[in-house]
Amino acid sequence: MPIDLHQRKVLLTGASRGLGVHIARALAGAGAQLLLTARDATKLAEIAQACERAGAKVSVIAADLANPDDRASLIDRAGEIDILINNAGVEYTRRLLDQTDAQVHAQIALNLAVPIDLTRRVLPSMLARGTGTIVNISSMSGKGATPFNSVYAATKHGLNGFTTSLRLELHGTGVHVGVVCPGFVSAGMWGRTGIRAPLALREVGPERVAAGVMKVLRGAKQVLVTAGPVRPLLALVELFPGIEGPMLRMTNIVRTLEQRANALDAAPD
Ligand code: NAP
Repeated sequence: MPIDLHQRKVLLTGASRGLGVHIARALAGAGAQLLLTARDATKLAEIAQACERAGAKVSVIAADLANPDDRASLIDRAGEIDILINNAGVEYTRRLLDQTDAQVHAQIALNLAVPIDLTRRVLPSMLARGTGTIVNISSMSGKGATPFNSVYAATKHGLNGFTTSLRLELHGTGVHVGVVCPGFVSAGMWGRTGIRAPLALREVGPERVAAGVMKVLRGAKQVLVTAGPVRPLLALVELFPGIEGPMLRMTNIVRTLEQRANALDAAPD
């Protein structure tokens, strides 16, 4: 079902590349008024032009979201936001002890602390107006275990917990909070690795993530974006903790992530 976002002002983080570009295009197609942010001003301008060609009203603000002053100024300049999409994120798929302090802190900041902070900054105005939606782009790493990715998985589990807790807390206020959990996507941070996902969890296209965002804007609470139905497997792991090890080994997910970790180890930081 198409959604009409005319007159709705959307702040989208991580809009300069990867999944953000596809989310921006989908929002533009639905008539939203877009405020795109990321650090790379040149790429933001290119995406903005493409969205404008699709008929959207677009503004861009370059900001380093790891910097609290940039976040404060972004929200100040943004004015009233109807929809916040916390999409910016970073992932370092490496053994825990191979991660640098900077990599650990960047993942905790960008994937968890920043979405919480931006939410706290936009929420008062949404509550005052009795309307608003916050969409958090999490990951299947926030639903199940992903070896060689413990810090990223911790941040995404945290983001999922934050989303559900806040959604319950905001019940009846008119403000909706939902989460999109992509698995392996053929664009963005996974697409760039050049490694193929295992057959059991093969890549999905980035347009599926954008469609997941639209579902949350229509009221969905949690959208899993994967190639196959994974909810029964997640339920099995909840019922029988410990079976995730054999399951992830059998489906080659452990080997794929180990391959990714080895490739990152071989590359300069
Ligand atoms: P990506 O291609 O690496 O893009 C990341 C975006 O975040 C870029 O626009 C980047 O822009 C922005 N960003 C990074 N650090 C920033 C900072 N300090 N300040 C402001 N912006 C910053 O990643 P992606 O694949 O599109 O991922 C988008 C979201 O989807 C993430 O939350 C990720 O965890 C999630 N996800 C992705 C996949 C996948 O397979 N692609 C799967 C599951 C979940 P600048 O560099 O210009 O700042």
